[in-house]
Formats: sequence, C-alpha cells, structure tokens
Amino acid sequence: MKIEAPRIGSFIPPVRTLMGPGPSNVSTRVLDAMQRQTIGHLDPEFVGMMDDLKVLLQYAFQTANELTIPVSGPGSAGMETCFVNLIEPGDTVIVCQNGVFGGRMKENVQRCGATPVMVEDDWGMPVDPDKLEAALQTNPEATTVAFVHAETSTGAQSDAEALVELAHQYDCLAIVDAVTSLGGTPLKVDKWGVDAVYSGSQKCLSAPPGLSPVSFGERAATRIRTRTTPVQSWFLDLNLVMGYWGEGASRSYHHTAPINALYGLHESLLILAEEGLETAWTRHRANHDDLVSGIESLGLSFVVPEAARLPQLNAVSVPVGVDEAAIRSRLLTDFDLEIGAGLGVLAGKVWRIGLMGHTSTPENVAYVTKAIGTVLAD
Ligand SMILES: *Cc1c(COP(=O)(O)O)cnc(C)c1O
Repeated sequence: MKIEAPRIGSFIPPVRTLMGPGPSNVSTRVLDAMQRQTIGHLDPEFVGMMDDLKVLLQYAFQTANELTIPVSGPGSAGMETCFVNLIEPGDTVIVCQNGVFGGRMKENVQRCGATPVMVEDDWGMPVDPDKLEAALQTNPEATTVAFVHAETSTGAQSDAEALVELAHQYDCLAIVDAVTSLGGTPLKVDKWGVDAVYSGSQKCLSAPPGLSPVSFGERAATRIRTRTTPVQSWFLDLNLVMGYWGEGASRSYHHTAPINALYGLHESLLILAEEGLETAWTRHRANHDDLVSGIESLGLSFVVPEAARLPQLNAVSVPVGVDEAAIRSRLLTDFDLEIGAGLGVLAGKVWRIGLMGHTSTPENVAYVTKAIGTVLAD
C-alpha cells in the first residue's frame, strides 16, 4: 500500500484574547525574540544569554539564590523538581490544600514514597496558618511544608510569608508554588525565606508555556546534596542539571535546552525588569480593582473574600440557571475571548477570569466586562 504525503496546510491560529487561567497573551516582542535563529545550546553566545536570564530570574523572584534556573518543562515539571529533589522515601510532608494544585502536591509526595499530612481549607479560602501550626505540632517528624501561594483554581492568595515562617519554627523546609504569583503579586523569596519555589512561563510572565523557573535556597541545596537516596527522576535531578547551569559549571551536556523558548522567557523577563516588579504588581492590582467594579455592575459576585483575592485570577460565581459552558463558548466564537471554567468542586459553578502579565490592561478589563454583559443579556 502506498502512503501518500498528507495534504495539510500550515497551522495559522486565530487571534484570541486570553483571559483564562493561563496561558496569557504573548507580546509581539516576545514572539519576535523566539523567531530568531536557533544556535547551539553550548555556544558561548547562548551560554551568555543564559547567564543574563538567571540574573533576570533572580530579580523576578527577589532572590540571590545561586540555584535559580528555568526547568525545561511546564509548571508541573517545576513542581515535580521541588518534590523529587527535596523529599526522600519515608519522609513526612505537610501539604496545605485549598484547591486543585495542593492535591497535585499530595500526589507528588506519595510518588516520592513519603507520607503526606493534609491541612485542608475550603476552596476559595486562603490557607489557615493556625491549621498549619496544629499539624506541625502533631507531626514533629515532618521535614517539609508545601503550599500554593496563588491558587489558580479558586483565585485565593495565601499569606506565604506567615506560612514559611511557621514551617521554619518547626524545622521544616517550605516548598512554595508560585506559578501564578510570579510577576503578578508580591513574592519575596529571600525576605520571606522561601526554601524552594517554582513558577511557570505562561502566567504573569506572558511567555509561551513550557518553561518553569525554580529557585532553591541554601538549606534546600544542602538537603539535595546530602540525600541518602538518589533522586528518582534522572531528568529532574538537580545534581545533574547543575552540571550545565551551575556557576563555573563545565556546561556539560545534560539535555538539549529548549533554545528558542528560552529566548522568549529572556525577553519576557526583560520586559518585566523594564517595567519594574513593583509597578507590575500595582498594575495587576489596579486592573483587578476595575474588573471587580465592572463585574459587580453586571450583578455578578466574586467567590473569594475581598482580602484574599488574587489580582491576576478572578473566580466569578455563575448565576443560578445560567449554562456556564454556553457562555464561554459564545465568548470564544463571538468575541475571540477565552475565559476559564471552574475546576474540581468549583466545576460548573464559576468562571475564572485571568488578568495575567501582558493581558492585564484596562482595555482588556473593559472588553471582558462588555462581552460578558452582552452574552448574559442575550
Ligand atoms: C498552571 C499552574 C500549575 C501547572 O502549570 P503547568 O504549566 O500547567 O504545568 C501549577 N500550579 C499552579 C498554581 C498553576 O496555576
């Protein structure tokens, strides 16, 4: 049988306004950076770009941590990097869960052969520090505390500084999910003493998905170096990755870096540095405040109590009797506008409106408010 060449054209995506839980819209400047020539990942010019990228990442995370790198993989790969390197079989790990992503942390802990102790809060609420303290008291053998700073599944923001401080009081290291917080809401890795943190390229950094910035402090680096068992993942073993990324490292081959994707992340971090972190945080807050006014003027309400709302991810309750999926599909077809659906216990009950990075503008706030108002009125 002869197999003919498939007659398929190039893929030309439609132009969308991305106001869901990520990815956010990627600027032309970042896209331009990504279409530059691919060079070798061991080329001295590329290595120089990576050195700058590390400095830009340290600024975004507000850290001097040497071990600050972009993992080749999405936010989930950053999450897994933290767990497989810091957890050993038999460990006890306290996992705070107030949404979808805390549940994934639990699975990571189990797959590392460790025991998760869950601290549960209602979806839409921040993690309660008192509950964490109670768990730390009843589980003195715990080595690590893990929690999500910005729960993208609900739009709740937890007090990372207070939770990290509690972890340290009880001699635990703190793993913090900052996938949605980085670049959108204050995150101060060194000031707060965060031991291990991971993020993603496609949320408030507005680079394409597929890279996960991570940073590890001295205590975490020491734990990785003094493990008694090998890291179960070859690809994510930081002892090996550091042979390529580390200061003064020989840049030996570990895996082929996603070269053009890294050009994009580099450019997006440069844009963030040019704007200034504090200015970016203020912009996200201001656009969130405008969205609240707009959405409330439509008679809709927010899921998360005001004090714990995340500026870059807004969970809005679906009015009784409204088919939430039908609304989202009309927004996509009539307005080229993507918003997110609810996940887990919030499935069918909320819309998630993202105002992340390049997407967080007054124009987009006005656009999404008008579009939802129009579709709901029909
Ligand atoms: C998006 C997200 C992740 C997962 O990132 P991927 O890039 O989709 O793998 C993890 N945690 C949080 C809080 C997120 O918002």
